[in-house]
Amino acid sequence: MSSITDVRAHWLHTPIPRDRQHTSDFGRMESFNSGLIVLTTDDGRIGYGEAKVHVGSAGDYAGLCAQVEHEFRPLLLGQDPERIAGLWQDLYCGSRAHHAREHGRSFPVVGRRGITLSALSGVDIALWDLKGKALGVPVYQLFGGRCRDRILAYASGGWSGPDQIGEEGKRFVAMGYRAFKIRAGLNDPSIDVSAERVRVLRAAVGPDVKLMIDAHGTLSVAEAKRLCRKVEECDLAWFEEPTPVDYPEAMREVRQSTDIPIAAGESEQTRYAFRDLLALGAVDVVQPDLAISGGLSEARHIASLASAYQVQLAPHLWGGAVLFAAGMQLAAATPNVVIMEHCHGHNPLLHDMVPERFELVDGCLEIPDRPGLGVTPDPDFVKEYSRPWRTAL
Ligand SMILES: [Mg+2]
Repeated sequence: MSSITDVRAHWLHTPIPRDRQHTSDFGRMESFNSGLIVLTTDDGRIGYGEAKVHVGSAGDYAGLCAQVEHEFRPLLLGQDPERIAGLWQDLYCGSRAHHAREHGRSFPVVGRRGITLSALSGVDIALWDLKGKALGVPVYQLFGGRCRDRILAYASGGWSGPDQIGEEGKRFVAMGYRAFKIRAGLNDPSIDVSAERVRVLRAAVGPDVKLMIDAHGTLSVAEAKRLCRKVEECDLAWFEEPTPVDYPEAMREVRQSTDIPIAAGESEQTRYAFRDLLALGAVDVVQPDLAISGGLSEARHIASLASAYQVQLAPHLWGGAVLFAAGMQLAAATPNVVIMEHCHGHNPLLHDMVPERFELVDGCLEIPDRPGLGVTPDPDFVKEYSRPWRTAL
């Protein structure tokens, strides 16, 4: 049995050149940030995880790093890293984890959502990476093996106005993508402009490209219904977060008014939140972010729940290479994951942090079969872009 000898968290902060910055309802994106979790074992293995406190590119990661190193590190040192389900429960339930094990119910700590769950997500992903490396197999083998060799990837971007969005779509098609998601909602000055952008884009890319729109949860029920009506001929694959996430009943009302599938869930945490979304009948696609919702372990619970409702899972992957690699391992082994996000904001954490490449072939990404998650963060990159977080506290 090996044991955990170190637990570290890095706040990765990469500036975005001014000409590559985009602006959305979240503001202007001047840097891409994420949390890199690094677990070390006494037999010299290193496991990498990723944890996020923001669904977009920004965010202050000092609190998350402190959660990992101050709260979780003492609980993890000396533990067997292969005991993933038990460690997840230990971190989620704290001093009452033994009650959870004895009674088969959850006894969560007060911070059972928010930064605590993001930190737990990163630790969980790193534990799966360690286990795969220990056994010399990709993580998908630990989940039951492959059910696919490649996964359809959608280019995630689309901030251009009506005069440019058609060209933006054509560029992604020329790169080989067969699916593209754009921003709508409060990113646009009006519902009519959102509808116009969708129509222009559909006309530009033709009928064979999957198109999705994402309103970041910013519209009212009436506005969302109106937008659905105005683009009903555009054959959208989904409408993401049409209305505020704090009122899922509104999303259900939109869903009942249209045949455009509704997608949501990127900021939800744990199977319990997704159970509520599913039971309400609010969604056709759930989108947990593995670096927020509880890691690979929790994503597998969420995928099973979704499958019982005949709902697909499309992982939210607006983050770095470790998160992206984790999404690919989940997609490889999970029948109801049929498409995944490929971030096209300016993102050095995805494209420059690891030597491994994610190649697009016929609109799909080949799932790697290297041990663990199959990516190796470059120590020089991590050192250069790690922002000191202890002084920020
Ligand atoms: Mg989204």
